[in-house]
Amino acid sequence: MQHQGRHFLQIPGPSPVPDRVLRAMDMPVIDHRSAQFAELAKTVFQGSQKIFQTSGPVIIFPSSGTGAWEAAIVNTLSPGDKVLMVETGHFATLWRNMAVRWGIEVEFMPGDWRHGADPAAIEARLTQDSAHTIKAVMVVHNETSTGATSRVGEIRAALDKTGHPALLLVDTISSLGSVDYRHDEWKVDVTVSCSQKGFMLPPGLGFNAISEKARAAAKTNRMPRSYWDWEEMLKPNANGFFPYTPATNLLYGLREAIAMLLEEGLENVFARHKRLAAATRAAVNHWGLEVLCVNPAEYSPVLTAVLMPPGHDADQFRKVVLERSNMSLGSGLGKVAGKVFRIGHLGECNELTLLGALSGVEMGLAAAGVPHRSGGVEVAIKALEEKTEANSPVHLKIAKS
Ligand SMILES: *Cc1c(COP(=O)(O)O)cnc(C)c1O
Repeated sequence: MQHQGRHFLQIPGPSPVPDRVLRAMDMPVIDHRSAQFAELAKTVFQGSQKIFQTSGPVIIFPSSGTGAWEAAIVNTLSPGDKVLMVETGHFATLWRNMAVRWGIEVEFMPGDWRHGADPAAIEARLTQDSAHTIKAVMVVHNETSTGATSRVGEIRAALDKTGHPALLLVDTISSLGSVDYRHDEWKVDVTVSCSQKGFMLPPGLGFNAISEKARAAAKTNRMPRSYWDWEEMLKPNANGFFPYTPATNLLYGLREAIAMLLEEGLENVFARHKRLAAATRAAVNHWGLEVLCVNPAEYSPVLTAVLMPPGHDADQFRKVVLERSNMSLGSGLGKVAGKVFRIGHLGECNELTLLGALSGVEMGLAAAGVPHRSGGVEVAIKALEEKTEANSPVHLKIAKS
């Protein structure tokens, strides 16, 4: 079918790239050994620190998020090391599988794919480990397959309370730049992220924000590495250079995306995502469908995963929505394939974008013959109008002043 207007990319990453970012990248490639490049690189290194909320180094690889996962593992751990991970969903499972392939012994705390990682369970497990055999705790901040976030600040507190020296490695691939995240305050050792979600860029950049403790671990660990080696990066990075050809034009885009996030203000960015997520859940509840995440404290501000009623296939529904409304919704991944669809509401997303997306979902439910109560979009509008605390974002106040 021939569609008019823009495609609605409502998957939880890659997220839509703002026009401003597209224009910023529409530049000739420059010499990456030039002074002009060094200036660009230094600007994005400093800007990235603000987004990760760290004063330590942020390493930027030309890679997907998966590459940045690998960098976190190979720079800090050694073959045979034991780590504690939590089965929050598909991405936690993939990261676990990668660690196993690197010869890491992973203790994988089972999960039901409807919750974030439980800080109390982590605390209990660390308390048992009086010999400190666990070298790292590795969690996914925003589990993109389920729409449940993990409370990283509380997990940090669990480590502190037990006095356990394990490193803390966190995947913020779909949360950074959308959900409050504090690398330094939460004493995270490696924060993994990438470009195509909260940063609103095309795919192609992977990030590691690293603590001094992580950097020290990298000096003594025994894992072979070359491309991902932090020290190989940090030496030339100090002068604004890379050991190999960087993704130059994506770095132009990154500079612009960081400027956009800081102009809006991180607090406002986080509040906007929470509001849009709350309005989405209001619509889903009204439709009579179920949100996959069951703990309100862990609802994702980035995406909402919705369970299909029994007997209805989520992928068939997504196909109807794509054909009818030119909108891509996220598929169910892994264990929940065919059972859930995911509505992304991250990055370049405002009230009207969201209401357009929810309209597409509601029309799609009708077209696909999925039982539901109509009027969810109106309920979402009401939710956006409500004067609750979650709904009084600073950005509205600023917009008026
Ligand atoms: C998207 C995503 C990944 C994978 O990132 P790629 O860029 O596809 O390698 C990993 N973890 C989470 C939580 C994600 O959302």
